[in-house]
Amino acid sequence: MDSLERYVRGKLADLEARSLKRALAETARFPAGVTERDGREMISFCCNDYLDLSHHPKVIEAAIDATRRYGAGSGASRLVTGNHPLYAALETRLARFKETEAAVVFGSGYLTNIGIIPSLIGDEDLILADDLCHACLFAGSQLSRARLEIFRHNDLAHCEALLAAHRVGHARCLILTDGVFSMDGDLAPVAALAALAEKYDGWLMTDDAHGLGVVAGGKGSSFIGGAKARVPLQMGTLSKAVGVYGGYLCASRAVVDFIKTRARSFIYTTGLPPGSVAASIAALELIETDTALVARPVENARLFTRALNLPDPESCIVPLVLGEPETALAASRSLAEQGFLVIAIRPPTVPPGTARLRFTFTAEHRKEDIMRLADAVRPFRPASAEP
Ligand SMILES: *Cc1c(COP(=O)(O)O)cnc(C)c1O
Repeated sequence: MDSLERYVRGKLADLEARSLKRALAETARFPAGVTERDGREMISFCCNDYLDLSHHPKVIEAAIDATRRYGAGSGASRLVTGNHPLYAALETRLARFKETEAAVVFGSGYLTNIGIIPSLIGDEDLILADDLCHACLFAGSQLSRARLEIFRHNDLAHCEALLAAHRVGHARCLILTDGVFSMDGDLAPVAALAALAEKYDGWLMTDDAHGLGVVAGGKGSSFIGGAKARVPLQMGTLSKAVGVYGGYLCASRAVVDFIKTRARSFIYTTGLPPGSVAASIAALELIETDTALVARPVENARLFTRALNLPDPESCIVPLVLGEPETALAASRSLAEQGFLVIAIRPPTVPPGTARLRFTFTAEHRKEDIMRLADAVRPFRPASAEP
């Protein structure tokens, strides 16, 4: 056996032994959370398609129309010939909804973060990031070669202590947080972080992948409590509640112009297919106009947490931390046998010892299914969750 084969086989065996090997399962998704896996129909409580817009007739229609008109692919980078006319409409709409001067759309949320951060920040600079930030914020931070300091999750005092200790001596400073944390479903203190950032001349960047379309009437985590927090860099994805694919940054005109000329993951990659951009426009229109739809994912999450005496949810993501990977995997398997698709989230996605079931609730989940799920989950509830 050559060294490559020996290396990967050894690694795989080790991961398997620790219940940490990941594998793909073929999954077909249909409207209203119905999924088919291994020939079995299950109701999914683990999609990020929070408003079920990926199957909305208007969204699908928009994708088909744009595909017929402009083709299945965009043909080149946006800076070459890939900038089809739908991009401007999408960026204008995003900027208006987020109340910024401008917006720029990338190929995905991941590409957005690994593009923005090293465009703005370099090796003389400082980045402060919440401990539970999404992996792609850390990936972008590493690409920037800036000094990276991590503050304890949602701990403003720790963030300020790090600013006090390290801000002086660094040219620029970026503060990174998820708006809604992807694996815990809780909100960042965005307005307080904005104030802290201003005090220390730092630039706050929020990743609102799980906020857009779900919290603050769909406008996202910068708008919690009704007023707009001063967040100069509002990033998010079109792949979750919007139901399609792509990422975005909403910011000032100058920042957006700068990113378009600097971000390598914008410049050296092909533009999104026209159908995806058109679908996102249609989905955002629904998010902006259908307030009842936007309210439903969190309402459904609340039905579940109340049935189990868990704390009220801050978003439509509800974690149930079970500890070891095997425990979470066994719970996930048991739920699958009862017709519920709920994924076990294991390290390194979450910290060691916090393997969990991560439930996500969508607009189209039926109350009786949520109640049946709560009944099925009750036996796994850890003792620490007892009221
Ligand atoms: C999913 C996610 C991303 C990545 O977005 P994609 O469009 O899926 O690449 C970025 N940040 C957070 C917090 C996410 O949950």
